[in-house]
Amino acid sequence: MLKAVFPGSFDPPTNGHLNLVHRAAALFDETDVVIASNRMKSYLFSAEERFRMMSELVSPYANVKVFIWDRLIVEFAERNGARILLRGVRALTDFGYEFELAMTNRGLNGTVQTLFMPTDPQYFVLRSSAIKEIAAFGGDISSMVPPKVAEAVRSKFPRP
Ligand code: ADP
Repeated sequence: MLKAVFPGSFDPPTNGHLNLVHRAAALFDETDVVIASNRMKSYLFSAEERFRMMSELVSPYANVKVFIWDRLIVEFAERNGARILLRGVRALTDFGYEFELAMTNRGLNGTVQTLFMPTDPQYFVLRSSAIKEIAAFGGDISSMVPPKVAEAVRSKFPRP
């Protein structure tokens, strides 16, 4: 049984994240989407809100589960019997950070392997941070996130 962990902030989940989930669901027997609840970071959506959005979005996939986790991701992987840590990479600029993160995680637990999956071209420039910024200025985010997520993001930035 090949189980992968797909960790992230998902603040909020985007079409880019869902593309990765879709492809992972076809590759692995089980994919655990793990929503980070990191005290050092500030989020627009609470962990519970992100969990609810993500759970609804992955409901079509019988082999994808969603979790909230506030500790090291390698610890989650070990406890849940996952040997693969999946990360998406977009532009080349992602590589430096992701490479370091992969090294760090490997140092923490040598049995968990990080795999990078390049984004599909149409999601190349999709970032949760950019989506929040566009929404804060009243821009249209409907092509970047699923409709319910767009609604949830808009509700965080009420227009006068
Ligand atoms: P983090 O704070 O851990 O980077 P994110 O929610 O930004 O969390 O991203 C979670 C994962 O999804 C990361 O592996 C990231 O590279 C990947 N990802 C984010 N956006 C995209 C995208 N547009 N295409 C492919 N992968 C993406």
